[in-house]
Amino acid sequence: MKVSWIFIGLVLVQCASVSNSKIGAVDPKEKPKPTSIVKPTNIVLVIGDGMGLAQVSAYMYNVEGKIAFERCKFIGLHKSHAANNLITDSAAGASAFSIGEKTNNAYVGVDVNGKSHETILEEASRKGLATGVVVSSTIVHATPAAFIAHNVSRDAYEEIALDIVDSGCDLLIGGGQKYFTRRSDSLDLIQKFKSKNYFVTDYFNSDYSSLVIPSSQKLLFFTADGDPLPYSQGRDYMIKASLDALQFLDKRNDKAFFLMVEGSQIDWGGHANDVNYVISEMTEFNLMLNKILDWAEKDGNTLVIITGDHETGGLSINPGSVRGKLTTQFTTTGHSGVMIPVYAFGPGAVNFTGIYENTELYLMMKKILFK
Ligand code: MG
Ligand code: ZN
Repeated sequence: MKVSWIFIGLVLVQCASVSNSKIGAVDPKEKPKPTSIVKPTNIVLVIGDGMGLAQVSAYMYNVEGKIAFERCKFIGLHKSHAANNLITDSAAGASAFSIGEKTNNAYVGVDVNGKSHETILEEASRKGLATGVVVSSTIVHATPAAFIAHNVSRDAYEEIALDIVDSGCDLLIGGGQKYFTRRSDSLDLIQKFKSKNYFVTDYFNSDYSSLVIPSSQKLLFFTADGDPLPYSQGRDYMIKASLDALQFLDKRNDKAFFLMVEGSQIDWGGHANDVNYVISEMTEFNLMLNKILDWAEKDGNTLVIITGDHETGGLSINPGSVRGKLTTQFTTTGHSGVMIPVYAFGPGAVNFTGIYENTELYLMMKKILFK
């Protein structure tokens, strides 16, 4: 009997101490973590110009093992057509992503009436988010121009360059120096950038691989006077530049960042009907994508969206193909009208499944970036 009472007493003491530690007295060292402060989500939009399913497939069947795209569990399809043409060009294609409007071919950052719309990158910049553009074309080319300029002509490179001065973009890496330095209006745009606290340098002064970015300034780095080289001819900055951009933008402030990275020359391989050009550009794109996904995975708060603006070349993989040795055929030297896959990775990726207009990408990105 005596033993039983002692036992019950011990149980009661035990219960009291359990309930005490769970509900009652809080150890001051174990303060509850604040849950109201949610770190904003960064967005990296990785565009493969002219990259449809055939370009990804051609690359995939040329290598062993899994490709970076397979790391994305949420995949959708966008309808790439322009306002005035079922077959879009890169200007209208990128403008759909940047301003959320179906516009006419050749138009960048403007609607069908030629009216300028603030782009997602410009809005991000205005709201204090860090922003960046890294491309393997000139930075005045249609795809980047749609994010940082406004013009009814994608070919108005000098006017586009002038717009970029006021874009607010924190980091710009790509070719096209001549449109900033040797202009028909004799303006010195480099001085304008410098007066806006940009650190401006180029391939002529230092190889990109030895570049050290001053953290207190913005960056404008020209990788070429005109078009950068194809990857197969020695262009080698995209992987380091995209990783540098992630680190640079991440440290810039405590807000989110928006980065647009473009594998520009997949499209050029398609126009040339040169499958080796396409595959070599895809090789770099895939290497770069793996690095970006690694970074995003580690960060845990970065959404990566990978897509094309349209398909180029009407590429097909024909009977007789074997892994590593494909029989391919192009049906056009222009663009085609097939739907384009969207691969998403990270927080919010689930939103990108389904079939939707290319303009939806803008709306979905905006919702996540400015929530
Ligand atoms: Mg492009
Ligand atoms: Zn093209």
